[in-house]
Amino acid sequence: MRHSHTSTGTEHSQRLRRLRRAMREEGVDALLITHLPDIRYLCGFSGSNGALALAAKEAILFTDGRYTVQAAQETRAARVRIAAKSAQGEACAWLAASGAAHCGFDASHTTVADLDLFRRSVAQARRVQARGRAGGARFFRALSAPLVHNLRMIKDAGELKLIERAAHLGVKLFTDLLPHVHAGMPESELAGMLELAARMHDADGMSFDTIVASGPRSSLPHGRATSRPLPRRGFVTLDFGVILNGYCSDMTRTFFLGKATRRERFAYDAVREAQRAAVDIVRPGVSCGEVDEAARSVLRKAGLADFFTHSTGHGVGLEIHEAPRLAAAEQQRLVSGMVITIEPGVYLPGRFGVRIEDMVAVTGDGARVLTPAPTAWTEL
Ligand code: ZN
Ligand code: ZN
Repeated sequence: MRHSHTSTGTEHSQRLRRLRRAMREEGVDALLITHLPDIRYLCGFSGSNGALALAAKEAILFTDGRYTVQAAQETRAARVRIAAKSAQGEACAWLAASGAAHCGFDASHTTVADLDLFRRSVAQARRVQARGRAGGARFFRALSAPLVHNLRMIKDAGELKLIERAAHLGVKLFTDLLPHVHAGMPESELAGMLELAARMHDADGMSFDTIVASGPRSSLPHGRATSRPLPRRGFVTLDFGVILNGYCSDMTRTFFLGKATRRERFAYDAVREAQRAAVDIVRPGVSCGEVDEAARSVLRKAGLADFFTHSTGHGVGLEIHEAPRLAAAEQQRLVSGMVITIEPGVYLPGRFGVRIEDMVAVTGDGARVLTPAPTAWTEL
């Protein structure tokens, strides 16, 4: 059974209002949005082809004939037009005729070929309107900041509910899976069991390729599951996420098969302490760099900082990696409504690795862990 999110469209209208405010500050009176997660965020449409054209008073989603029914069902706060040829091209033509002086676009999601198409479409539309007028060269402006991405960094109440649901499903799947883990089973079987269970619980899919890294492979921070059997003795790192109603979850747990050495146990305890220390300082006003440092300083004291080779975390929402970035010296301050991961790890090349990752929502006065699976030392 599908538990689809029923939206009245008011939250989408609010998002568009906030975006128009940001557009005014940016000095553009129109916006072309082609990045699909941005489109979904702004108007609800989840298809694989679309362009959202935003003028001062109107918003129109352009998509193609495969999505006639779906677009009508999903789209909120924008009208739908089915393009005969190119959704992007027709969106540009409509923007050119909208009376807008300058149309912004997000350079980080626009290829050189895309921009060429935008400009040709505007030039063509204008030739039809009035012979000899200037083409689209000055009409389009690269935004100085990714406006929609920045809005998406702070989740509204509806999003927080959906993200929490996805995160809780992740915890349930992990808890259900743990009793079935045993030495000799291929990493890929473990990943497959998890992914089947996710599907059986309504997940749209996985947030990314499931990471199952066992034994010496646990020293690979991003070891995708292989056909390698789980060892009799060694760490297993499981990092996975589900997509539920469009929103991603992300969590990592590391457990041990057999009996660990003191060195292995020491590394685990240090990562666990680092992860807790970082979660503990999360609250509005703290900088992302300070959160990173909270984790890193614990590992420094343990003599393991050199083996912590990535940043402490990232924002998560409609996409698995969103703003903000929790890395050394990152100035961005935390704001209530952000959802971030806290995921320090240590990786001793060729020997073993440990990572623990939770999703955390920044609240008005602190933090709420969205993935409350135990992190206590686990030997199976
Ligand atoms: Zn992860
Ligand atoms: Zn992550």
